[in-house]
Amino acid sequence: MRTGKDYLAALDDSRRVYLDGHAVTDVAHHPAFAPIARTIAELFDLAADPASAMAVTDPASGTTVNRLFATPTSREDLVGYREAATTWARHTHGWVGRSPDHVGAFVAAFGSHPEAFAREEHDFAANARAFQERVLAENSYVSYAIIPPQVSRATTAHAWEGELIQAGVAEERPDGIVIRGAQMLATGGAVADEIFVSCIKPLGPEDRDFAIGFVVPVAADGLKLYCRRPYAPAATSSYDYPLTSRYDETDALLVFDDVFVPWDRVLVYRDVAGLRRQFFDTGAHVLGNWQAQIRFMVKLQFLAGLARKVAAVNGVDRIPGVVEKLGELASLASIVESAVLAAEYTAAPDEQGMWRPGARAVYGAMGMQAELYPRVLAILRDLVGGGVLQVPSSVADLTSPETRPDIDRYVQSPGAPAEERVKLFKLAWDAVGSEFGGRHHQYEMFYAGAPFVVKGYAFRNYGFDGPVGEVEQFLASYGAA
Ligand SMILES: Cc1cc2nc3c(=O)[nH]c(=O)nc-3n(C[C@H](O)[C@H](O)[C@H](O)COP(=O)(O)OP(=O)(O)OC[C@H]3O[C@@H](n4cnc5c(N)ncnc54)[C@H](O)[C@@H]3O)c2cc1C
Repeated sequence: MRTGKDYLAALDDSRRVYLDGHAVTDVAHHPAFAPIARTIAELFDLAADPASAMAVTDPASGTTVNRLFATPTSREDLVGYREAATTWARHTHGWVGRSPDHVGAFVAAFGSHPEAFAREEHDFAANARAFQERVLAENSYVSYAIIPPQVSRATTAHAWEGELIQAGVAEERPDGIVIRGAQMLATGGAVADEIFVSCIKPLGPEDRDFAIGFVVPVAADGLKLYCRRPYAPAATSSYDYPLTSRYDETDALLVFDDVFVPWDRVLVYRDVAGLRRQFFDTGAHVLGNWQAQIRFMVKLQFLAGLARKVAAVNGVDRIPGVVEKLGELASLASIVESAVLAAEYTAAPDEQGMWRPGARAVYGAMGMQAELYPRVLAILRDLVGGGVLQVPSSVADLTSPETRPDIDRYVQSPGAPAEERVKLFKLAWDAVGSEFGGRHHQYEMFYAGAPFVVKGYAFRNYGFDGPVGEVEQFLASYGAA
């Protein structure tokens, strides 16, 4: 299987990644991207290590593949999938949202539901299968951008001033299509191999030119990635910024300057209903978001551990009020863990034999994420108090003989000498207060869509018929007389 070294070598191509007005050459070695690229490389090494049990034999090709890119076709597969996704998530303690298994899950569902891409006018069924086969064979890291740029949410793309602002079809050629415009927000795009581009926001009949789905290499001619300000270069050391210095994923606006996409890389073409089919009829959305909840579960467990440790170091962990706060944190983390397991428990095979995690549990947890994560942060902030600011400016205050004695004397706790205490509180600050921590706050609230959108998934997948029927039955059991 592909190793981290293979992955890093593949990043050396002609990709156009922009930062501060300039194109970055060699992302694998640039301070903004090298840390996250190294982390992704570690994930590939982990998957390639037989001890991780992440590799399985693909029945179709007989080759060894990463089970996170394979379609789960039995309950055992789903259990194995969860364990493998947990292994990757634990490696980053849940701080890498768009690790290759996220879009990998979408692609696995696409590949097992070619019928969702087959239409009389354009039959892209073979493309959907080939996409998954390529990801399986090459261990490709696919990122995605499936949201229109935030130009105006009052109307859809056809009504925006200026032609093709949202990525759309500029030209149809015998051998493929030409794409022009922009799409947000490819997390990991700068260090991915390929990008899947589509639109998950509902479009109308007038938006047919924007109703597309396709996959391009990040280095495709004419594709530009405009990254937000990276946080990793400002991380003075791993001691001062332990999370930022390893896990700062890039978020990038994609700009298509007439990018040619051959037909064999197209999945949806000028087909508004097709957009919906690819995400929902295939089960891609529920499988991909189950992966996201597995990753979130691991992150919340990590944050619960961090809070518990901070409270212990400060000697407050037996005070009833603090126990209550830690208990609330434990409850919130358990809710997500329970939803992950409930989704597995209620999973069932679909018509194509893919085992789909239970939608009610997946979307139930997701629906509360925009409230749950800020609440977790609030509890952690509450527990750390000013301790996250009563830390030396950098690790240099610990290594300098001039300052070290004061730090040793005044920034310590019983059982936690200065170096350990400062380390812990710097980690807490990176989680709740650094620019990286702030981005994660926004990420957890929005990565699967704005909160009103995500609650819509919960609404549609809850299955209100049963509960409403029960209420009606109860109402019918008594009367005024
Ligand atoms: C850090 C981060 C990383 C992300 N990574 C990716 C990625 O890798 N790939 C990807 O495709 N997407 C990604 N996303 C998600 C995506 O880019 C959007 O943020 C998400 O889909 C929400 O859309 P929006 O930001 O345009 O918010 P909007 O839809 O503009 O919503 C913003 C707010 O406006 C209000 N609002 C807007 N419309 C309505 C309405 N109709 N009814 C009620 N209220 C409304 C709500 O208060 C809402 O919370 C990421 C997001 C973040 C924050």
